[in-house]
Amino acid sequence: MNNGNRANGARRQLSVWEKAQRRMKYYRLQALQPIRWLAYETGQTKYVPPPDRMYIESTNICNLNCIMCPTGLKQIVRPKGYMDFDVFKQIVDEMAPWVRATTLHIWGEPLLHPRIFEMVEYCRKKGLRSEISTNATLLTEEKSKRLLDAGLDAIYLSIDGLRPETYENIRVRADFERTNANIRRFVELKVEGNYPTYVNIQIIKMKQTLDEIHDFVREWSIPGVDRINVKAFDTWAGQIDEIAQLSPNGEKRLPKRWACPNLWYHVHIYWDGSIAMCDRDFNLAFPLGNVIDEDGKVRVMKNWNGPLMQELRRRHLENDLDDVVPCNTCTEWAWWKPAPFFAQGNRPAEENTPVRLNGDGPVVIGLTEVES
Ligand code: SF4
Repeated sequence: MNNGNRANGARRQLSVWEKAQRRMKYYRLQALQPIRWLAYETGQTKYVPPPDRMYIESTNICNLNCIMCPTGLKQIVRPKGYMDFDVFKQIVDEMAPWVRATTLHIWGEPLLHPRIFEMVEYCRKKGLRSEISTNATLLTEEKSKRLLDAGLDAIYLSIDGLRPETYENIRVRADFERTNANIRRFVELKVEGNYPTYVNIQIIKMKQTLDEIHDFVREWSIPGVDRINVKAFDTWAGQIDEIAQLSPNGEKRLPKRWACPNLWYHVHIYWDGSIAMCDRDFNLAFPLGNVIDEDGKVRVMKNWNGPLMQELRRRHLENDLDDVVPCNTCTEWAWWKPAPFFAQGNRPAEENTPVRLNGDGPVVIGLTEVES
């Protein structure tokens, strides 16, 4: 890349006004943390502050058939589609002042959404941190540049395996060499253009990958990679035997059940506006309303503290979950319990400790059973 292109491509600096707005938002969200925690701790069901994180499903369509994924195993039977851009904008308009970050994926491959770059750009314009997780098979050089230029804050690049046969047996229909090349080019472009996008390289800890994790971490400890995520295996609430059998963990003793923090901390919005308790309810077995109101306007908070959500929170507090699918078979609720100023729900608490294999290399998360 020549210097001229770099200057054009690099993310422009924030204006003084944008910086001030971000600072204000930071303080507002910090002040909300203990209030939200109190709402959770005291069992408040109705007056819960806005969620800490938002998950938006840009699409539930995917181009792969991965063996650990309900989409790949054709277990997701709800209709397929793409989120309408106007609905997306209204969600962001309402929630951006209150939410720390949004993902632009839940189920499906976000790079299939024809307006994904505009979505990233819109989040940035509204001061909302945006993140995507992608299988990187469609991450061409052109798409990489557009994501970086649009102001994507974080990207999760999934490569399950160091050896082609491991990867291609897991990520069915993907090509190991192409995915690797796409990811390496994305990282190069980030470094060349000095973009601040936080790059996470991800490998799921499962029976098939366990032997390769150590070498994988070393191989991907390259400039431009900020974090290597050895991702905890998710059984998706144990709903699919084929997936549960891939877990490297075996049976674990669970603590005495507590109310799932997801219902106080995270909002999940599917492509058609439906609200889900979390991504483990991939077929919406327990619907929680829709952000698109009867008058066609989008209202997220109305649902966040609406009667359906209140009822689910109450049932969690009373441990009345026998017929609440999929919470009744879920073990992933035990991954986390929030603290007044800290809430992290994407992996088990014991795997939160970051390590560094070398001084200026990426942070590595999730290395517990594997020698570091
Ligand atoms: S209990 Fe499990 S399925 Fe239910 S909301 Fe929590 S994480 Fe999701």
